[in-house]
Amino acid sequence: MLQHFQKTLLVGCASLLAACAQPSSAQGNVEVQKIEPTTTMESKTAQEWTLVIHGGAGVIQRSQMTAEKEIAYHKGLEEALLAGQAILANGGEALDAIEASVILLENNPAFNAGRGAVLTASGEHELDASIMDGRDTNAGAVAGVKTVKNPVVAARAVMEKSRHVMFAGDAAAEFAHGHGAERVENSYFTTDQRKAALKRVLKTRAEKADKRGTVGAVAIDVRGNIAAATSTGGMTAKMPGRVGDSPIVGAGVYADNNGCGVSATGHGEYFIRTGVAKTICTRIELLNEAPAAAAKVALDKVAELGGDGGVIVISKTGESAFAFNTPGMFRGVAAADGTLETRIYGEPAK
Ligand code: ASP
Repeated sequence: MLQHFQKTLLVGCASLLAACAQPSSAQGNVEVQKIEPTTTMESKTAQEWTLVIHGGAGVIQRSQMTAEKEIAYHKGLEEALLAGQAILANGGEALDAIEASVILLENNPAFNAGRGAVLTASGEHELDASIMDGRDTNAGAVAGVKTVKNPVVAARAVMEKSRHVMFAGDAAAEFAHGHGAERVENSYFTTDQRKAALKRVLKTRAEKADKRGTVGAVAIDVRGNIAAATSTGGMTAKMPGRVGDSPIVGAGVYADNNGCGVSATGHGEYFIRTGVAKTICTRIELLNEAPAAAAKVALDKVAELGGDGGVIVISKTGESAFAFNTPGMFRGVAAADGTLETRIYGEPAK
């Protein structure tokens, strides 16, 4: 227990501190954002399998976090880890483990994916998800689906049952339902909390606290195969039709056994523009960088442009890292050595 986080290395980022001093305008003059320094937490190399998950790197203000909520977040993360762990510890596939973890996070209304997803400006849910298999870089993604209970299942259907990588809109949902993905009404995803958040965001247009979230998982299994998945409701009050980074291969997700697996969360437009997930894997593959170092470079670029967020990474050698330039990121790790840990803020091990 605790080994991963006990061996964490916390790195403050001087260049991002400079970015903090210069508030940037993310969307015209609508929103002024302060970028936090990047926190990177690198674990030791796993001997066998490792699973890392996240539940979003949105602005989680401690003042708004009750003890009750905090416990619920940790519990949700732990349940997701346990679902993946049950597969990996029995010699199962990384791909099955990350899907199992993400399904639980999608079903948990505390996180912005599946049930509990944020609402668009017109009060609907449009969900994005992706999945990628590091064995052959096969990938599947869906964007803007409204009736698929578990969008990650739809993404996997695209990957395995079509010759395409990405489907969008109603046709994406119909394709997924045709391959067994459970259908729900769009209202299934709605919670009172997200309705209130939409109201607040539409009214103030500056409220960041409720805008974010995404879930994701990356695993390496006992055979050294890597897989990654990301699923999200996007950003509160997004324009209908807007697609973020989460379903974009190379931006919000990437997996290649030769480099690494990545799942990202954050202000999607910046993650798309800078190709965050692929940048990290390419640096690991070609420059032999450690995951935390590669992640920091990618997030620095995002911050330079005015964006923020975080990533979870597992490299081809099994080394894992969490990095974020937000005050926190819901996250967790499970590994073959018995590690089972969840964290929310930038704290080192307790
Ligand atoms: N990346 C997601 C998006 O832009 C949101 C998030 O992760 O907070 O849709």
